[in-house]
Amino acid sequence: MVKLQTLEVSVKGMDCAECAQHVQHAIAKLPGVESVNVLLATEKAIIRFDPDKVDLSAIRKAVASAGDYSVPETTPSTAAPPMGDASTISAQAFNWQLVLLLAGVFSVVVSIVVVGEWLGMFEILNELVPFPIGVAIVLMGGLPVFRKVIRATLKRQIISHTLMTIGAMAALAVGEWVTAAIVVVFMRVGEYVENFTTASARRAVKELTAIAPQTARVERDGAEAEVPVAEVKVGEIVIVRPGEKIPIDGEVIAGQATIDQAAITGESMPVEVASGSHVFAATIAKLGSLRVKTLSVGADTTFGRVVKMVEEAEAHRADVQRFADKFSASYLPVVIGLATLTFLISRNPLSTAAVLVVACSCSIALATPIAMLASIGASAKRGLLIKGGKYLEALAHADVVLVDKTGTLTLGQPQITDVISLNGLPTSEVLALAAAAERYSEHPLAAAVRAAARAQNLSLSEPQDFEAMPGLGVRARVNGSLVAVGNRRLIPAAQSLPLAQQLEGQGKTLLFVAQNDQLVAVLAAADALRPEVPGALAELRALGIKQIELLTGDNQRAAAALAQKLGVQYRANLLPENKIEVVKDYQAKGHTVVMIGDGVNDAPALAQSNIGIAMGAAGTDIALEAAHVALMREDWSLVPEVIRIARRTMGIVKMNLAFTAVYNVVGLALAALGILPPVLAAAAQSLPDLGILANSARLLRQK
Ligand code: ADP
Ligand code: MG
Repeated sequence: MVKLQTLEVSVKGMDCAECAQHVQHAIAKLPGVESVNVLLATEKAIIRFDPDKVDLSAIRKAVASAGDYSVPETTPSTAAPPMGDASTISAQAFNWQLVLLLAGVFSVVVSIVVVGEWLGMFEILNELVPFPIGVAIVLMGGLPVFRKVIRATLKRQIISHTLMTIGAMAALAVGEWVTAAIVVVFMRVGEYVENFTTASARRAVKELTAIAPQTARVERDGAEAEVPVAEVKVGEIVIVRPGEKIPIDGEVIAGQATIDQAAITGESMPVEVASGSHVFAATIAKLGSLRVKTLSVGADTTFGRVVKMVEEAEAHRADVQRFADKFSASYLPVVIGLATLTFLISRNPLSTAAVLVVACSCSIALATPIAMLASIGASAKRGLLIKGGKYLEALAHADVVLVDKTGTLTLGQPQITDVISLNGLPTSEVLALAAAAERYSEHPLAAAVRAAARAQNLSLSEPQDFEAMPGLGVRARVNGSLVAVGNRRLIPAAQSLPLAQQLEGQGKTLLFVAQNDQLVAVLAAADALRPEVPGALAELRALGIKQIELLTGDNQRAAAALAQKLGVQYRANLLPENKIEVVKDYQAKGHTVVMIGDGVNDAPALAQSNIGIAMGAAGTDIALEAAHVALMREDWSLVPEVIRIARRTMGIVKMNLAFTAVYNVVGLALAALGILPPVLAAAAQSLPDLGILANSARLLRQK
């Protein structure tokens, strides 16, 4: 058995989608590397490899051999928390005004070139200035680009600038130095636009990380000390004053405050916290001071995880992106072929140069990730964590929605409404037995039983041999006797009980209590439906999703009552593994399945579905890990919302792709036919990047 290791290294020097592909190929080629994902937006590579065959220095060498790229010495970056480091935030914002300004400047430059060409000014300039001086101007102006091209060529790589450089050389060869100079100018402009675009994508992620506080005030040796967040230890007491951001995830041990949790949930309605409440890093204590016991720090906090997942979203590529990547890899050879053909047929070096110059491959590779990143970044700020373009793509054509009941459709705070003793024991005694057995269960029903016992001031015994059985109930030894609490499948003796059927008819969930295999009591629990559910389901139907089905481990009658009220189909008495089967069945029939669950015992079904959506994931690790989309607040209106966002994003991705494809085909055709002179070809080739950027920036402004 080989033991594979996963390593995250940062990679410097990548400033276009093409660069990321070079690094990707170089690392993937190493023997012992199983998979690699190079992330352009966060400048890192996630590598799965066999440590016996390959090590960091080999990876470093491979990266350096791919071009002007490097792995800095401070790697591995996994050790450092992903937040903070405001200094690395690029000054170039993904900013609507800036995009417009850039577009404006650009159109002026293009107009000058067009008019210049039309008036024949470049011809005149070409005549006036002696040719050797012109050559010198071209070489000097293009030096940085030419150097790159030569270095890539020595490594037998063709980059997009290779073609433009050949084009410029062709123009020089026929004595058109002004043409060559203009091509060089646009190569430099194109480089700038591309850097700007990449920086913008990075910005969408980094804006998110910048909201975390950098320092924390901790109690050490009886005094308060201000320390960098990374130095706070789990268990330490952190002081939070009014108006401050909470630096860690923790439990309030003293004080009261009103907290703005928008950074996590996207919801700015303040939340009241007091002793015992959990608070999250990056949220703000508006009123009141708190003493908080640290539970997790940095990358381990809910906020830290969200940031990390957004950073890594790029790794979950959509299929359209894979297609575009493949396409752009085979695009360059096709263009070279077309240029050769043009030359052979027309014998016109300038048309040939125009063909080489107009081809712009980078924009095809950029079209998808730029839109995805903009959408994912903007959603994260609103409490909607989408783990990758892959899931946006799937969501856009999802047609089946499966919903868990307890904790998802319902508030997940059931109340015990009836305690019925069956063989003479006092009800307080059966309740105490049941609550003791449920003491360590995380299930909402267990919490309800404990709360009912607490309300009667019952003292609970310590259970032994506690065992939780998902979808069934719990078993434990309490005061020497074997106690089981759960449904009929756990306690067969409960099979025929007229009283039970009557309670279930009211939509209640029943918990049967057995002591030493004797049925001793029935507890009934009722859980309220979340108020926004009917509206959200109606919206889903309006979005064209016809198949909505309730999946529950609860009993037939309770499920039927709720399903009828909501007008959806249902399946009851399901174990967690049965839910996986239902998902697989739909998938086998070709459906794209959304599964919505609370993440606790639905994690496997969430993971199996095409898009697993976890409800109210803030603070629950399993849900954050297992789901593909996590709703950071318990709000059903986010479900139709995320589908709308997905459709809008895919619409913009398709627009980007169609635009670049048509643009390139028309450009290449006009160039090959000799209609588009090289000067205009050069101006034209840097336009698609800008178009993609402007089009994708629309996703930053969600409603
Ligand atoms: P759902 O699918 O509706 O979320 P679960 O799979 O969590 O439901 O649980 C299914 C059923 O299993 C519950 O309705 C209950 O009867 C029983 N059950 C599960 N866990 C417990 C527990 N800790 N105590 C008692 N009953 C439980
Ligand atoms: Mg559940």
